[in-house]
Amino acid sequence: MDFIDLKSQYHALKQQIDDRIHRVLNHGQYIMGPEVQELEVALATLTGAKHCVTVASGTEALLIALMALDVKPGDEVITTPFTFAATIEVIALLGARPIFVDIEHDTCNIDVKHIEAAISPRTKAIIPVSLYGQVADMDEINAVAKKHGDIPVIEDAAQSFGATYKGKASCNLSTVGCTSFFPSKPLGCYGDGGALFTNDDALAQACREIRVHGQSKRYFHTRVGVGGRMDTLQCAVVLGKLERFGWEIERRKQLGDMYASLIEAHCANTVGLLTVRDDRECIWAQYTVMVAQREHIQSALKTAGIPTAIHYPRPMHQQPAYFDPAQASFPIAETIAGKVMSLPMSPDLTQDDMTRVVLELAKAARSIPAAT
Ligand SMILES: *Cc1c(COP(=O)(O)O)cnc(C)c1O
Repeated sequence: MDFIDLKSQYHALKQQIDDRIHRVLNHGQYIMGPEVQELEVALATLTGAKHCVTVASGTEALLIALMALDVKPGDEVITTPFTFAATIEVIALLGARPIFVDIEHDTCNIDVKHIEAAISPRTKAIIPVSLYGQVADMDEINAVAKKHGDIPVIEDAAQSFGATYKGKASCNLSTVGCTSFFPSKPLGCYGDGGALFTNDDALAQACREIRVHGQSKRYFHTRVGVGGRMDTLQCAVVLGKLERFGWEIERRKQLGDMYASLIEAHCANTVGLLTVRDDRECIWAQYTVMVAQREHIQSALKTAGIPTAIHYPRPMHQQPAYFDPAQASFPIAETIAGKVMSLPMSPDLTQDDMTRVVLELAKAARSIPAAT
């Protein structure tokens, strides 16, 4: 069993993806070819955002968003310590300071209750992460940001492309949305890729310029930029994958519901589930649960041929690269990091395989005390 089954997905979409790739090989415009704009139009339509700017990766999307918002050394950016390093790295790369806010224990997303206290005159942006495919509390976050002088809000939607919040698409819920097309994300390419989404014309223009070395026209550099384009072949792969993406989103939601009911039936006292808020639909980029004695369970599952992963074992405030003695303790993130475990998840996961995962999980967890 694969943790993420990309082979079955390719098999199902082989014709579309191969055709798309061959079209690029035939026209030969590997950089900024027609598929780049075609994808940007398609994704803007999907999310409802006015602008989509494709970029080299999700990390690059976050970096370009912060550069476009003019984040500089000495500025502060409020975010969650319970995320992939990229969210924090881009802040540090610009010489700004990440200001951490602890998470909610039941969704693992940033706890909006604590954001206001973290705001200072130096706050330049807020980056909530829509973790595991569930959108963070965007309305409440936007409201706090607005109250304090319209602080820009960047949704790190690397794991939530396709998710909805009050019926609206992730990526189009704040000043800027940033997503990733890393192969294992809900909408992946066959290498690195990412995109920014915004309804702000000036910000979109800044992102487009920064993406290509800060050029407003060829060899005229208006601002400092990066080499941050997404290549045509990767755009072609995403276009091929879009053909059944609607089905994949539905399938992911269905699989999430199936996991929850199977786990409740077989391991209710030993495995904790994440909460999905009533006003949003999670697309389960990872199907993450909470367990005690995680190492024991992981190794029992491994022996049974079931791969698992940990997203994430150590919060960012406890990483040597980002340690800041003034921000040394975020107890919920620390506790959660010790309990989370992700199970195999992808649209092509079969019901039989899922049942086997849950029965093995139940067996492994049976002798262990309750987790949440
Ligand atoms: C994957 C991920 C990123 C980075 O995306 P890349 O395309 O790998 O650069 C950023 N933030 C989060 C939360 C992620 O999961």
